[in-house]
Amino acid sequence: MGANLACFSQGCMNPVIGQCAGFQASCGRFYCAIHSKGILCAECSSRHEEKVSQAALAVRYQGHVQEIQRKANRALFQGGEGCLIWLVLLLVGAGIFAAGLAVDSSAGYLSYNYTLEQLTRYEQLKNLGSLSMIVGIIIIVVALAGSHIRQVRLVTRTRKAAIDDIVQQDPSFLEYYRAWTHDQRVKAAKTGLAILGIVIAGAAAAAASSSEKSREDERIRNAVDDELNRRG
Ligand SMILES: [Zn+2]
Ligand SMILES: [Zn+2]
Repeated sequence: MGANLACFSQGCMNPVIGQCAGFQASCGRFYCAIHSKGILCAECSSRHEEKVSQAALAVRYQGHVQEIQRKANRALFQGGEGCLIWLVLLLVGAGIFAAGLAVDSSAGYLSYNYTLEQLTRYEQLKNLGSLSMIVGIIIIVVALAGSHIRQVRLVTRTRKAAIDDIVQQDPSFLEYYRAWTHDQRVKAAKTGLAILGIVIAGAAAAAASSSEKSREDERIRNAVDDELNRRG
């Protein structure tokens, strides 16, 4: 290197050993052995290292997120005693509903010349059948709601435990995870809004087309009236 070249670091008198190749941007500064690393000047090199460690951190955090999801998903499909109660209740509800349906259809149809006794029996069977079906449906709904609440609780608890485990080893993860879940929520909300927008646009188009249709009908009616008036 020529004698007129100096290291970019102010006041540094060390001999220049190269010119910076730049990291993600052109640089071209001359550097000495101390104020450089590889083919980069000290500043570009520290930017490079920061980027590398950020990327490594992102990979690590994403691994944590995947682990949490994996555990939560596993909890979702976990059976266990808690699940059995709701399953039994679901079967009981289905049984009562089926029994109601059977009673209801066994009531048969009334002929035109039914007796009072037949009518009473028919009414009783129909009422019993309907009541039984309604009770069955209520029990089924309760069973489904109960098992859903149980699963949500289980998944929430599992996820929380998984997060706690990871945060103990890697405290800085918590902030990343909060930001990540916030992003997910925003994304989900945006998707929801987009779908809502499509639905509203569709409804508006349908309304416009139906009002177009009714205008067309009116035009035809008016034309027919005119024609009739001319003839009459
Ligand atoms: Zn230097
Ligand atoms: Zn540089």
